[in-house]
Formats: sequence, structure tokens, C-alpha cells
Amino acid sequence: MKAAILEAAGQPLRIGDVDIADPAPHEVLIDTKACGLCHSDLHFIDGAYPHAMPAIPGHEAAGIVAAVGSEVKTVKPGDHVVSCLSAFCGHCEFCVTGRMALCLGGDTRRSGDQPPRLTRSGGDGGRETVNQMLNLSAFAERMLIHEHACVAIDKDMPLDRAALLGCAVTTGAGAIFNACKIVPGETVAVVGCGGVGLATINAAKIAGAGAVIALDPIAEKRELAKVLGATEALDPTDEATVPAIVKATGGGVHHAIEAVGRQASADTAVKLLRRGGTATILGMMPLDCKVGLGAMDLLGGKKLQGAIMGMNHFPVDLPRLVDFYLRGLLDLDTIIAERISLDQINQGFDKMRGGHSARSVIVFD
Ligand SMILES: [Zn+2]
Ligand SMILES: [Zn+2]
Repeated sequence: MKAAILEAAGQPLRIGDVDIADPAPHEVLIDTKACGLCHSDLHFIDGAYPHAMPAIPGHEAAGIVAAVGSEVKTVKPGDHVVSCLSAFCGHCEFCVTGRMALCLGGDTRRSGDQPPRLTRSGGDGGRETVNQMLNLSAFAERMLIHEHACVAIDKDMPLDRAALLGCAVTTGAGAIFNACKIVPGETVAVVGCGGVGLATINAAKIAGAGAVIALDPIAEKRELAKVLGATEALDPTDEATVPAIVKATGGGVHHAIEAVGRQASADTAVKLLRRGGTATILGMMPLDCKVGLGAMDLLGGKKLQGAIMGMNHFPVDLPRLVDFYLRGLLDLDTIIAERISLDQINQGFDKMRGGHSARSVIVFD
């Protein structure tokens, strides 16, 4: 199959041929139909986060099940599925206490005594392992994943839009519904209006938030934020912005959500809080970053939390998000900036580095 391979961090992806194994008893083989380009991919491509090489990135995907292993019960060939990197084992402390997004995956990965899922012919005529990134590797015509890394969805759902549910929308909507548990009328500020931020804003609107304040330095993204439900969209690089929001909201917002992965935007989220408010950090920040609350913040009962992948329970959450889309509540059409082919992947990531567009989605014919 054709795949976009990362040979080394800092290099462009290379389109090459890779072999994919047959499904083990609990695995699912999927014909990939669409995959979004996510900022987290870029962290691995640019080397901000380490990974074994060569590897195939891509983790925001939708496709059609081609074959399943002998023990797979949850999906069958022909099912339309969305993948999720929050593969869950089902029996660890996190899984059995309903916090499956924190599960480290347990036996959902192949162990060292099993053949790798992805290989290619090496220089000496032997086989070389190609590392599966986040146990998905979706920038490829096919994916071989554990059955606990995908969920079947309504076949009426267009797969290019469904792909976004695999990461950006699950993360943004999960922050609102699962991590923040927004009460109707509460005020929400979202720092960063990329794919995750826009999904967060849209979910805040669905949840019945009061003011939904979007912050992004780029004017085009502020306009998109308004389309998706922001009641106001402001430039956080203007020094007057944070004090103005604190004043206008009578002391700050109930929930400030960071959706970029930068120190400055996380610090902004904390500064926007009212007494008793909660800052939620969604972005993958550089590994040496730290976010904190000061003494007065703590005396004011402010809270700070991470919410990896929106603290999802994706087998339940994703079909609900599909239903929201099909009923016209969730606006995925506005979040997709462009559809591209696998061959155009490096241009797509260049655009992301520029920071101007919302989401690029690769579609496979
Ligand atoms: Zn992602
Ligand atoms: Zn688990």
C-alpha cells in the first residue's frame, strides 16, 4: 500500500510502499477514506516530540472495515468507522473507573514477540519494520489497528467530515462535555482557533454556554470562530484584550480552554479565570513548558487541568457527535479548509506551519 513515511524528524514525508500484516484476533483492517492533518503530527514530524523511525504519522481518520480478526465483536467488514488514538485495554484502573482516555493501551499494541503490523523491504533484501505512530498510522491507504481503537458510525455520515471526529472534534467537544461539564449560561473563553479550538467553540454553543469568547491572532480564524458560535472574537496579542475580557465578564470566565499548545496561550487561559474558574489545557506544549496558578489564584479557588483527547469515552462520544452533525448542530463543514490528496501532504503541513487555515483533510479515492 501507499503511505506517507517519515524517515527522520525534520524531513518532509516521503510517499512510499509499505506492507501491512493480516489482522491478529483482536485487530481490524481498514481501507482509509480520509485523514485530517493534526498539529500533533507536526510535533513528531518536526522533532519536538521523539519517535522511533521510520514511522507513518496520521491519527485523525475514517474508513471502511475491510477485514477483522477472529475475536473481533464490535465491528464487521463493510462498517464505516472512525479511529481514535485513545485505544483502551478495558481492564486497567482508568478503564474500569470510566477514564479510558488515560489508559496506556495495555495489550492493544503488538508485543515484541509478534510480527510488526507494518514492514517494507530493506536494502539487503530482508524486511524492515516501519513504526506505527500512535498505533494508527493513518497517512496510508490501509490501517491495521486494535478493535478498541475504532468505533462504527452511521453510514449516512460523510467520511471526510467523520475523520475530524477522530482527534480535533473529540478533543474540543470532549473538553466542553467531559472535562469542563459546562453548565448552561457559564462563560467560556477559547484560546486558539485551529481545528481543536473551533470544535471547542462549536461544542460550547451546543452545550448552551453563555458568552463564548474566541481568541486568536489571525483575523480569518476569528471570523471562523464567529461562524461556529463565538459571541466575540478577539486578538490575544493585543495587551488590552485580557483585562477587557475580565472586566466585561465581571471578573473573568468560568472556563478558559487552551487549544494551541503554547506557553503564552496557556498563561493567557489562567489570566482569564474568574474566582472558582477552571483552566483546561488541551494543546501539546513543548516538553519543557509548565503552567501554574499563583497564591492569589489558589486562594480564589481557581483550578487547572489537562484533558488529553477531551477525556473522551470515544465508543460512546463519537456516535453522539455524528448524530449532532446529521441533525445540523455540529458544524464540521466550516472546520474543513481544504481536501487534498496523499501526494500533497507536505504542502498541507507547510500551510499548517503558516497557521492560517483551519483543517486540511486528505481524501483517498
Ligand atoms: Zn490530533
Ligand atoms: Zn485500560
